[in-house]
Amino acid sequence: MYDLIIIGGGPAGLTAAVYGLHKRLETLVISEDLGGKVNYRVQIKGLEGHEIISGADIVEKFKRQLEYLHFAHQMDRVTKIAPVNNHFAVMAQGGRYEAKAVIVATGARPQRLDVPGEKRLIGRGLSYSAISHAQVFIEKDAALYGSSARALHSAAELADVATRVHLILPDRGDLDSALGKKLAAHPKVTLYENATLKEIRGDEFVESLLITQQGATKEVKVDGLFIEMGLVPNSELVADLGLADSNGRIAINSRCATKKPGVFAAGDVTDIFIEQVLIAIGEGAKAALSAYEYLLKQ
Ligand SMILES: Cc1cc2nc3c(=O)[nH]c(=O)nc-3n(C[C@H](O)[C@H](O)[C@H](O)COP(=O)(O)OP(=O)(O)OC[C@H]3O[C@@H](n4cnc5c(N)ncnc54)[C@H](O)[C@@H]3O)c2cc1C
Repeated sequence: MYDLIIIGGGPAGLTAAVYGLHKRLETLVISEDLGGKVNYRVQIKGLEGHEIISGADIVEKFKRQLEYLHFAHQMDRVTKIAPVNNHFAVMAQGGRYEAKAVIVATGARPQRLDVPGEKRLIGRGLSYSAISHAQVFIEKDAALYGSSARALHSAAELADVATRVHLILPDRGDLDSALGKKLAAHPKVTLYENATLKEIRGDEFVESLLITQQGATKEVKVDGLFIEMGLVPNSELVADLGLADSNGRIAINSRCATKKPGVFAAGDVTDIFIEQVLIAIGEGAKAALSAYEYLLKQ
């Protein structure tokens, strides 16, 4: 039986693992990969090799440390966490593990649009996180697809730096909000309301988009595109425990504790504000120290 099982090997999970091991807890990380979304980079034409992700160096060091400690990680996919007496069973595709406490750090996945060109151009002018990559588009022409409050926030951030922002809205969405009205009147923003993004074109990088509106299709030249349809939390493994909010995000308190004693959560899978590597690192550290305090009292 482990003291602590951490599910997920991204910034939150890796940091939690380093803290757990430092506290001499019998710690196991179960994850499908080590590094998580830190492996994402975005380049655009003329800015090749530009590395955006802050905190990636720290994550890389934690990753190497854990790779070296073979006993402390298992590459596997967890399907379920179930309470058993006063501990937990963690069911993975390759086996069953037990722990006195668990930390869920499984992150969230960006929702895809599933249009031609999308898969091929991810990271090559196509991003799902304007909060992370808007600054790459200084004095460039960018496009953004989405109509939610989050999408409009991202469009406003882009409009601050880009030369032009083509805002493609599948519906009216949040356009009647104060921010929506501001964007509609913004001289740098071109709105495509009730429009469909048919195709993302480009050989090596995003070069243009096919946009259909009111039956007519036109090709718009851009340096890059953001698809902002939200993040889907990877919280299916705790569905039976009723820990997630209506958006599927695991609800935590300021100590990364869920409402189930012994189950902690950290990073993008939780209901914290904003997805960023450095925030996930801090949350992972907090979750591990919280779990340690819980274990001391057991
Ligand atoms: C396209 C994109 C670009 C980004 N760029 C930046 C940036 O430039 N700067 C920045 O600060 N932030 C950026 N972010 C946000 C940042 O990557 C995340 O906030 C951060 O990685 C969250 O860390 P995490 O540990 O919570 O989750 P993740 O990094 O998503 O890690 C989750 C881990 O859990 C594992 N996992 C998931 N489900 C299971 C399961 N069932 N069983 C086992 N393992 C599982 C995964 O394999 C992975 O290892 C970007 C995000 C996206 C989507």
